[in-house]
Amino acid sequence: MLDKIVIANRGEIALRILRACKELGIKTVAVHSTADHSQKHVRLADESVCIGPPPSTESYLNIPAIISAAEVTDAMGIHPGYGFLSENADFAERVERSGFRFIGPKAETIRMMGDKVEAIKAMKKAGVPTVPGSDGPLGENDKTNLKLGKKIGYPVIIKAAGGGGGRGMRVVHSEATLLQAITMTRTEAATAFNNDVVYMEKFLENPRHVEIQVLADEQGNAIHLGERDCSMQRRHQKVVEEAPAPGIRESLRNEIGGRCARACQDIGYTGAGTFEFLYENDEFYFIEMNTRVQVEHPVTEMVTGVDIVREQLRIASGASLSYRQEDIQLNGHAIECRINAEDARTFIPSPGKVTTYHAPGGIGVRVDSHLYTGYCVPPHYDSMIGKLIAYGENRDTAIARMRTALDEMIIEGIRNNIDLHRDIIRDGNFIAGGANIHYLEKKLNL
Ligand code: ADP
Repeated sequence: MLDKIVIANRGEIALRILRACKELGIKTVAVHSTADHSQKHVRLADESVCIGPPPSTESYLNIPAIISAAEVTDAMGIHPGYGFLSENADFAERVERSGFRFIGPKAETIRMMGDKVEAIKAMKKAGVPTVPGSDGPLGENDKTNLKLGKKIGYPVIIKAAGGGGGRGMRVVHSEATLLQAITMTRTEAATAFNNDVVYMEKFLENPRHVEIQVLADEQGNAIHLGERDCSMQRRHQKVVEEAPAPGIRESLRNEIGGRCARACQDIGYTGAGTFEFLYENDEFYFIEMNTRVQVEHPVTEMVTGVDIVREQLRIASGASLSYRQEDIQLNGHAIECRINAEDARTFIPSPGKVTTYHAPGGIGVRVDSHLYTGYCVPPHYDSMIGKLIAYGENRDTAIARMRTALDEMIIEGIRNNIDLHRDIIRDGNFIAGGANIHYLEKKLNL
């Protein structure tokens, strides 16, 4: 087992990783910026190292500083969490070359999945269903591209192979604007992602976002932990997630999940990962793979009983998975609300001092947050300050517990989006289940 690791992240996920380490008896090193010296996990870690000033480019994205911190503390591995350097293949490579364990898949796997054209190609080969499309980069020949557009059928979407975070995409409704859209996306992609490769997909009009969680070890075992529905989004940012996804047939779940697990074996995937799909009319269409732990992993933990971060640490230590596929049973239902330091109506970030903090509690309620009364939310980072997770033996109970928990939660001193969640959890269409990815924005009149 790894005996000491660096947690190369901040906020709730740093605390989450720290808790898993403590349980496994792994010593922890917190690395933090000067803005974060009073973070909860920094105080609870065995050691801490300040790696730079507040801007993340000089601290949480500062590769030499993070590797030096591992060197001076004699750590064995580095957990990247999510965001920051978690999907940076060069970082993973440098960590391993410096003699440390990167807690995640191999650098070349991260690199392959970071190129969406390559990722789709690999998934297609492994039998994972993909969106009908160009099956590779678009060439320069206008006639061929127009023919392809016609064959796929409008609307189509032009996407950059190197795109991410909802950027580098353009929807095309008719043939008249196709060529122009290809040129524009290509030009933008060259500047933004340093990669002008673009591809074409059928644009699905009212899909849901449904993703499959997987775990794979170095011995070649791979399992799936079922799916999550993350369709409640604003500007491609997830707001509420749940597991399982309402209305998914068990046979379909098992089939798609099984294909994802086999795909992991095919590509030699190791660690935790997520296959993201668009889901429409009972069909799954792969869009991308995330090669890290995700913000919404707790909902899967609640319904499967599997500690995903613990498994990540065990896998990186060379141990085989603690579970076989037949050990995984989905029980009950879990919902997660992302609590952000931002105005519930305008979404304007609201950093500052938390003057009062009361976390909700009770049966089936989990709060993953680094907040405490007196904590100062710095303006330099993402506005998420915690996650409220409610579990119940069925979806109705989970909703009822979430409603109570949201009413109990108090965060004063800064603005937050608890009221938005109160509204969503009481919304008739959310309660009915299965709303599509456009629903929240429509509801908010955006
Ligand atoms: P990113 O890496 O930027 O998040 P994704 O490929 O995951 O890009 O797509 C982000 C979002 O864009 C999806 O969640 C979905 O809302 C929309 N989208 C992407 N591809 C399609 C498609 N073929 N049809 C409809 N919507 C799509």
